Amino acid sequence: MRKFTYTLSAVLIGLVTILVACSTPEKQVEKQPNLVYVFPDQFRKQALNFWTQGEFKGAIRTKADPVLTPQLDQFAQEALVLTNAVSNCPLCSPHRGSLFTGLYPGASGVPLNCNADRPISSLRDDAVCISDVLENEDYNLAYFGKWHLDYPLPNDPANPGNYVDPRTPAWDAYTPKDKRHGFDYWYSYGTWDVHKNPHYYDNDGKRHEPKEWSPQHEADQVISYLKNENGQRDTEKPFAIFVSMNPPHNPYNSLDDCLEEDYNHYKEIPLKDLLHRDNANPEMDKAKSAPFYFANVTGVDREFGRIVEQLKVMGEYENTIIVFTSDHGETMCSQNIKDPKNNIYSESFDVPFLIRWPQMAKARIDDLLLGTPDIMPTLLGLMGFSDKIPNEVQGNDYSKAMKNIANADRPESALYIRNINGKKNEEGLVTDYFPVARGIKTHEYTLELAIDRNNQLKETKFFNDKEDPYQMNNLQVNFKDPIIQVLLVELATELKRSDDPWYHNKILGDWINYDN
Ligand code: CA
Repeated sequence: MRKFTYTLSAVLIGLVTILVACSTPEKQVEKQPNLVYVFPDQFRKQALNFWTQGEFKGAIRTKADPVLTPQLDQFAQEALVLTNAVSNCPLCSPHRGSLFTGLYPGASGVPLNCNADRPISSLRDDAVCISDVLENEDYNLAYFGKWHLDYPLPNDPANPGNYVDPRTPAWDAYTPKDKRHGFDYWYSYGTWDVHKNPHYYDNDGKRHEPKEWSPQHEADQVISYLKNENGQRDTEKPFAIFVSMNPPHNPYNSLDDCLEEDYNHYKEIPLKDLLHRDNANPEMDKAKSAPFYFANVTGVDREFGRIVEQLKVMGEYENTIIVFTSDHGETMCSQNIKDPKNNIYSESFDVPFLIRWPQMAKARIDDLLLGTPDIMPTLLGLMGFSDKIPNEVQGNDYSKAMKNIANADRPESALYIRNINGKKNEEGLVTDYFPVARGIKTHEYTLELAIDRNNQLKETKFFNDKEDPYQMNNLQVNFKDPIIQVLLVELATELKRSDDPWYHNKILGDWINYDN
């Protein structure tokens, strides 16, 4: 009898333990969510294999690249997958400026790629970045990889008075502590494209040169941070991590740029089969880069998967908002152009955007036209900080749309921005920027208007993306065409809303009605 009582007590204790254990996940749900935001550079939307699978088939209007992305394929099954996210100004620094500030490039301080010839392009010290907001909310904040947001200064920690980059002009930069916008853990550099010989500056400005393929090294660093191997973070606090991997950014010419195991997947495939988009030209000299580009994509996929796996192992997967996206795309021989980015063609302008957080909404595919300045307010909205979004933010909080709430605000269009150097001073430094092209993308159309230095219309691009998803038929722009008129109303609205120089100077005012 006594034995039975003991047994019953043991069972009861066991039951209580199970009940307590079961209630623990609920407690975890109440915890502030972590954020892990992974954004490689130049990773195009089409370079994802899951577009060829199951429910994703037909979700984008063109073929996907013949690429292996098993980790992202699996992640997509559990994520909100956007088919129409764009990088409004599809270039490194302007994208990053908008991502962190929620401002368009004209307001973030970063209208052009940052280098030592462009003092006018540097992240505003007084801009309140998403990292500043989260620091105030007691998050641990870590940055890994490419930053490329500062005007390079001769502030090499090891050689004061010198730039960290020997090139003229310097592109790479060292970001001192007072310019890190709330990131308390730093393992980063400005911009540097030697994929197997990267370097990083740590919290205290010490330089590290690991001689490893950079995404692999960065994933190792992120995993170490998550494990808190060296006391990198306060485990009582939620964490927000940004990981900016440089590949699949060029160069992509040889095994110096990627891992052989990834290259081996593509090396035997004829270029015409790798570059099988209707608008691609496998005869271009650049075509020989395709296997190396896709090898970098596959490698980045694996490293992303390793970070996700660590979150699972440590039990933080369910309470972490995980984002995978890119700063812009890559043309890779489409449209017969060499420039990988900085144009409105879908391969450059569109970006992958996958976001997973079980508390948000069921996994699904969505055609939300998310723009870069929308990312900061949307993430803050998801994390419960809608009231902490800085007043000057120009992007919109689409967290309700992401949560799939009925009648949530959804964008009708996305603005396209291309800037070039403006005036230069006697020293040859760029003192302003010239807004050479603006455009608008809706779910059906893409329109770009480019101007000459006298603000006169120089060139137009106009595509019916529904009928011509490869954008091979540049339609004539007739300003009396009702479709064009609708697009110009959208364009005017966005130019006004973003306080763009086109709005201020009433550029092409004969066609664009800025007064409504
Ligand atoms: Ca870039």
